[in-house]
Amino acid sequence: MQITMVKKRLEGGAACGKCDQAEDLLKERGAWPRIDRVVWAHEDDPSSEGMRLAGEHGIDTAPFFLVEQEDGATVAYTSVLKLLRERLTAAPPSLRRDVDLDAKRIEELAMDLSSLTPQEVITWVLEHFGKDCGIAFSGAEDVALIDMAARSGHDFNVFCLDTGRLHAETYRFIDEVRKHYGLEIEMISPEPAPLRAFVRKKGLFSFYEDGHKECCGVRKVEPLKRVLGEHRAWATGQRRDQSPTRADVPVLQLDPAFSGRDGALVKTNPLAEWSSEQTWRYIRDNGVPFNPLHTRGFVSIGCEPCTRPINPSQHEREGRWWWEEATQKECGLHAKH
Ligand code: SF4
Repeated sequence: MQITMVKKRLEGGAACGKCDQAEDLLKERGAWPRIDRVVWAHEDDPSSEGMRLAGEHGIDTAPFFLVEQEDGATVAYTSVLKLLRERLTAAPPSLRRDVDLDAKRIEELAMDLSSLTPQEVITWVLEHFGKDCGIAFSGAEDVALIDMAARSGHDFNVFCLDTGRLHAETYRFIDEVRKHYGLEIEMISPEPAPLRAFVRKKGLFSFYEDGHKECCGVRKVEPLKRVLGEHRAWATGQRRDQSPTRADVPVLQLDPAFSGRDGALVKTNPLAEWSSEQTWRYIRDNGVPFNPLHTRGFVSIGCEPCTRPINPSQHEREGRWWWEEATQKECGLHAKH
């Protein structure tokens, strides 16, 4: 196997930054000696070897890599992470610690990370962010994410939104998880003054009459906004199969709704591509503790007054805010815009 890396030289002679970053990454991963040759695509010289190869393979980005296989076929790669994963190593894609928070870069990384396992994704995120990444734990089957984070060997934070309305079983379960993994779990409560004003005016069950948005706003969204403001990244247990509102959840994104400590906030959903069945297989196979409510017909678990058990023919989100339309069943924690 012969590997050619094509780098771009900009008008004026400087190498493009992305090409240099790719080279740094290959060096960092010990894969640089596996690159057999480097050729240049001169932006202002269509006859340069790199420009010629780009035209030949229909590629309009740099860097790119051409892998000549033993069978004579040539395969082109426009992603260094994919090249590393498929040709040079099976390890997670990057050890760089300077992930920049540019939306386009995050989108590219999301594409590369989407072919990794959830364990590899959370490991990758924690390698980059460590304790600057908060894992949102709801007391439900997203405990699988905590198990994966614990196995990664990296530092991380865990927080729970304590709405004050969770089941007693969920509170006990959160404590069981704390002890099981030897973790500190931060319980984030609503701001007292707005909560007091809301309850005084509307009582404890107004959501059955005029929807859950206002109560979730006070008990979940504001506390989440506060805790995310202390982090640079956060991880959730969201999966695409959970509801119509989550059908296009990416593995990695810039959070479209919340800001972090330095402004932009990275959000990762390592379980995005998993089904409920895969999550439960992981929990069983790895002896992960789970909320006892799951054995009593509760699938998606939230606050006590807004969660009920379902039967096997129902979709899991039918047990949440059952008096509302399926397309309205988000509490504002995962707004798209
Ligand atoms: S899930 Fe129900 S009780 Fe919990 S914050 Fe939302 S509306 Fe309030």
